Amino acid sequence: MEWFSLKIDGREVSVPKGKTVLEACRMHDIPIPTLCHDPELTSVGACRLCIVQIEGMRNLPPSCVTQVAQGMVVETRNSKVRAARKTILELLVANHPLNCMVCQNMGNCALAEYAYEYGVTGKPYQGEHRNLPADDQNPFILRDPNKCILCGKCIRVCDEIQGRSVLDFSFRGFDTQVGPAFNLPYHESDCVFCGSCVSVCPVGALTEKKMVGKGRPWEVKKVQTTCPFCGTGCNFDLNVKDEKVIGVTSNPNAPVNGKALCVKGRFGMDMIYNPNRLTTPLIRKDGVLVPAEWDEALDLVAMKFREIKDTYGANALAALSSAHCTNEENYLMQKFMRAVIGTNNIDHCARVCHAPTVAGLAVSFGSGASTNSFDEIPDAKVMFVIGANPTEAHPIVGTKMKQALAKGAKLIVADPRQIELAECSDLWLRLRPGTDVALINGIMNIILANGWEDCKFIEERTEEFEHFRENVQQYPPEIVSQITGVPVNQLVEAARIYATAERAMIFYTLGITEHTTGTDNVMSLANLAMLTGNVGKENSGVNPLRGQNNVQGSCDMGALPGDYPGYQKVVNPEVRMKFEEAWGVPLNPNIGIMLPDMFAAAISKNLRAMYVMGEDPVITDADANHVRKGLESLDFLVVQDIFMSETAKLADVVFPGASFAEKTGTFTNAERRVQMVNQAIKPIGNAKTDGEIIDELANRMGYPFSYFSPEQVMQEAANLTPLYAGITHSRLGTQGLQWPVPNTEHLGSKVLHQETFSRGKGLFKAIAFQEANELPDEEYPFLLNTGRKLSHYNVFTQNSEVLESYSPEELAEINPLDAKRLGFQEGERVKVTSRRGGLETKIRITERVPSGMLFMTFHYTETPTNVLTNGASDKVSKTYEYKACGVQITKIAN
Ligand code: SF4
Repeated sequence: MEWFSLKIDGREVSVPKGKTVLEACRMHDIPIPTLCHDPELTSVGACRLCIVQIEGMRNLPPSCVTQVAQGMVVETRNSKVRAARKTILELLVANHPLNCMVCQNMGNCALAEYAYEYGVTGKPYQGEHRNLPADDQNPFILRDPNKCILCGKCIRVCDEIQGRSVLDFSFRGFDTQVGPAFNLPYHESDCVFCGSCVSVCPVGALTEKKMVGKGRPWEVKKVQTTCPFCGTGCNFDLNVKDEKVIGVTSNPNAPVNGKALCVKGRFGMDMIYNPNRLTTPLIRKDGVLVPAEWDEALDLVAMKFREIKDTYGANALAALSSAHCTNEENYLMQKFMRAVIGTNNIDHCARVCHAPTVAGLAVSFGSGASTNSFDEIPDAKVMFVIGANPTEAHPIVGTKMKQALAKGAKLIVADPRQIELAECSDLWLRLRPGTDVALINGIMNIILANGWEDCKFIEERTEEFEHFRENVQQYPPEIVSQITGVPVNQLVEAARIYATAERAMIFYTLGITEHTTGTDNVMSLANLAMLTGNVGKENSGVNPLRGQNNVQGSCDMGALPGDYPGYQKVVNPEVRMKFEEAWGVPLNPNIGIMLPDMFAAAISKNLRAMYVMGEDPVITDADANHVRKGLESLDFLVVQDIFMSETAKLADVVFPGASFAEKTGTFTNAERRVQMVNQAIKPIGNAKTDGEIIDELANRMGYPFSYFSPEQVMQEAANLTPLYAGITHSRLGTQGLQWPVPNTEHLGSKVLHQETFSRGKGLFKAIAFQEANELPDEEYPFLLNTGRKLSHYNVFTQNSEVLESYSPEELAEINPLDAKRLGFQEGERVKVTSRRGGLETKIRITERVPSGMLFMTFHYTETPTNVLTNGASDKVSKTYEYKACGVQITKIAN
């Protein structure tokens, strides 16, 4: 890299060629005022406040758009520069309603700060004032055009970072305004309320409708932490004033997301103070849950667990750990069940989402996790998105994909539903639900027929290729087209785009895993990546987008019936001995029961008690009526949660847990990045952190959990878990580390399987296509497909009043042809019934779904979609087939 020598304010400095004068100054801690500049956005030099004097130049150039040159002499703060900046500020305030004391953004305005710094008093230039109406008709953002200084940052962030282009300048001259097209209010535009515009606005023109209250900068403590919703793992700052979280602000150093957030992360934190928070333990007495003291509740649970263990054996108890909770808490929960209770009956919600990923990628590659990293996405050349809806379910991942598209990347989408990314794809494969194996085999058949495979990679890095090839030959494009409904020319085009790219990334999520063939689907994608040599290098790989905030970490920490932390096998005697030595007790050598089997075991009385932490299986598990029956059959049910969930309503004892804002620990995101969760406030009311509760329970049961410092827990977990061996809280800092981290000097692993696969050679699997377990028929003629929508995360976000007010009810999607045939109107309430149960829901008539399909989300307790879904599950991982079952839809008589 070439470096230039410059003199700035008399200081000799060196700066790489290509930097701007502003960047040079910031590299050397020389302050320059800016209003329109943001390091994440293109520079436009609109506000001119960053002007400097450069020897040999006649005018004062804006430093943000002036590149450094060898020998440049720069003055940043002489009297000429300061006087010019003061004039610029005076001109800006001339038509600004500078009444800071009533501004919504009081104390957080760069214009006011600079005006103060440069001695701008009063208004030497009497400019015109605007008196335009504010846009206040949505629950999230207040837009006051009168305060706008037209810096254009909001327009650029919406375009360049979010890829949405909702905002632009409209009108001309003094009437120029920033807003959505046709100056529509936000809620009538295509705005998705990510709030990025608010995060960059340097004045009070775009402000958040504060969740709790306002705070001046000096009154507010900012605590960097990790989002509690999806597995993207965004970081932000919780703003705390007087021991209360008053809002969220972007943290530009956030490793995954920078300043970008989605509507949930930015605006959903009012759920911390939802009045329905559990704040005291509850014990069921005479059939009713009544408040109790902690000692009474903990003693009762310890006594009942001991009694059931003594009477029926340790395997009569089971626990569900939680992908909402920290790694440290998950470690403690699985240790509690194994070392204190004596059973491997421990599982969690990964079982019902990405267990096929863990199982399938472990078979193919030797490691059941995402191979690559999110920061590679904006430079991707080809992206194959199958069974995933990133712009709604993992919005910041979707944002990065849009950035790649803006740079010319190609996008193939395979989805039965017209998701947003399908609209901006090069190729949309509208396959019939559940035909993924056939589709991928068909694409691989075409790749082989055209000689597009990577022979060198196959030869050197993989095994079992011949058997795999024979199987793929059974899937010529014509047959695959008949099975999947995808035209032959589209299959050929998909194969060509993916296989002939220099590098190509695969992304998938529950559309692949939540099938009775979930593990087969995952291994098929691994086959495709290996066939084309797209593993072990940047901008390639197989990238499962893990759903919940810490579902990766809960798996890593061994909240699985067959795995100790780090996927070390319960049935391996050497591994077991290591844990026995560390924990000081003999351990059960048998694999425990998986989550879906727990309910049947409860009904048959093989299971007597369950301890459910931070999960709500009555709502989230398929065939919900069966789940409810299982839980009702238990002798004793303990639920630990932050809200009174549908499962908690069935409990004998309810422990109030703490939210993510009230605890310290770590979450691991979908790219294996272990990140800090930092406590911002004390637990609400009488609640305790989940770790503290498990700790106290273990001690009462006679096993000394003599700690509860999350850092000590991580130390113990890291000592026993090779993937986490080099992780300590202090090493994670603000950027986290991506596992494997084999020692305390290691800087983490961005890309897996670079030289060899974790299992040595990549394993090709010959996989045959199988239909979904339950297809539409005469009695149940519609196929129910399920998924998420942007404004909610499972039912958890129903506890955010602001998110709930924006998106308060289910709107099941049905095709216009079907709606017309059945005589349904937009918004009509209909009855949906499957073989397992029924519910009523409103409908939305849209061509996003094909004829014959009904699409519903999982977000509403009032319309519990899982009373409909099929309890049939993947043969390897036991993940339910949420994505396909037969339903009938009927009118509701008056
Ligand atoms: Fe980021 Fe997901 Fe949180 Fe949205 S919900 S802010 S994408 S982690």
